[in-house]
Amino acid sequence: AEHLIIMDEAAIRRALTRIAHEIVEKNKGIENCVIVGIRTRGIYLAERIAERIAEIEGKPVPVQELDITSYRDDRLEVTSMCVEAAAEPGAANNAKLSVRDKRVILFDDVLYTGRTIRAALDAIMDSGRPQSVQLAVLVDRGHRELPIRPDFVGKNVPTSKQEQIQVFLSEIDLMDRVTIKHQ
Ligand code: 5GP
Ligand code: MG
Repeated sequence: AEHLIIMDEAAIRRALTRIAHEIVEKNKGIENCVIVGIRTRGIYLAERIAERIAEIEGKPVPVQELDITSYRDDRLEVTSMCVEAAAEPGAANNAKLSVRDKRVILFDDVLYTGRTIRAALDAIMDSGRPQSVQLAVLVDRGHRELPIRPDFVGKNVPTSKQEQIQVFLSEIDLMDRVTIKHQ
């Protein structure tokens, strides 16, 4: 199998910076916004985006974690707040946030058939009626099987179904890189 690098560290950094600006622009700020990261790598991306938005807007934006695999438990847990909020005395670091009436920005690493996002939407709707839900992904590899489209995309990568995107993030993979594996 052949691995081709389609995003290096700089490309990932630039894409996330652009998406942070796009989120702020689309929402005319970050009032009432919450970033929800899906499972492993979506959470790191959500945290990175929240850091950038805090730099741009000078205000913290909460991050929540959504694990679709444990969706049967129907739980949304707060995993982190941005630094300012966490440093604030009395800030409820571990209090559960509701998505009720919030502008939810859902973040995942790769968008493929759309089935994971459909499940995520179910979980979000069950945890309280949000004002809106927007979708951000690092890579859109196509092949949608449901009427789901991302609002913010790091990179569109047309793939065949046999190809595999690999997302490496420094938090767990020791480097930032996106590759495509040709079978
Ligand atoms: P979907 O549910 O849209 O078919 O697939 C999206 C989910 O599966 C995402 O959570 C993503 O992490 C994972 N996924 C699907 N295709 C790929 C791929 O080519 N590479 C990686 N790294 N993850 C994928
Ligand atoms: Mg995933």
